[in-house]
Amino acid sequence: MADPKHKQPENANGKWYVDSTCVPCHVCLDEASDLLSYAHDESHVYFKKQPENAEETKRAANAMQACPTEAIGDDG
Ligand code: SF4
Repeated sequence: MADPKHKQPENANGKWYVDSTCVPCHVCLDEASDLLSYAHDESHVYFKKQPENAEETKRAANAMQACPTEAIGDDG
């Protein structure tokens, strides 16, 4: 389960976030490349944009379900 106390610093402000357990493995980017992005050093992924409608929220939820390390949270 993702931990809002360990959010990646680049996450856009809002409830969706990636935490420090991101590997990164790229799986979430296949689900929501419009919302998520690699950090400059490619050490992790972060939310470059919060979901703003039902379609984007569904993609964020799909990314959260697909993440093998449960690094994506929606309670931030
Ligand atoms: S699926 Fe999870 S571990 Fe993989 S890059 Fe995305 S947030 Fe990181």
